[in-house]
Amino acid sequence: MGIIIPYDRTQLQQPVGYCVNPACVPKGKTRFEFPVDHSNFSCPKCGGDKPPAVGLLVLTHFLTKNPQGKIVSLGISYSLACDESRAYMATVSNLEAASGDPEAVNCEGCLKKINDMGLLNHGWQFKSALIDQGWPLKSAEKKSGKEKTT
Ligand SMILES: [Zn+2]
Ligand SMILES: [Zn+2]
Repeated sequence: MGIIIPYDRTQLQQPVGYCVNPACVPKGKTRFEFPVDHSNFSCPKCGGDKPPAVGLLVLTHFLTKNPQGKIVSLGISYSLACDESRAYMATVSNLEAASGDPEAVNCEGCLKKINDMGLLNHGWQFKSALIDQGWPLKSAEKKSGKEKTT
């Protein structure tokens, strides 16, 4: 019995479980979170092991542009900030996700990188840096086809 950690979940980060049993949730929080160190885990407070009340938190990585990155989308290479060598983002089973928005990230390894890179709280300036220069924005500068008259 218990909640099983998916076999393809990253080994680099501490898995975190959650329980939403009102008896376990600390005041002011929406869920009780706890570190998980083995498969078939259950809530350390109430012993619950039935989803969706108890489960494994989705781990959201930070996706960053990286010329050496192995995740390629529309000709642009990216990598996970915490694991450059990884060639995939999320699978149907690993309960992981990836985002280009630093605010959405909860992976400890990626957060450390984001912090090192000074990317938090830079809002849209940072996001725009993710977008290739020359992205559709420039099409707005089309020259008018009007003929000159004198
Ligand atoms: Zn619980
Ligand atoms: Zn990560």
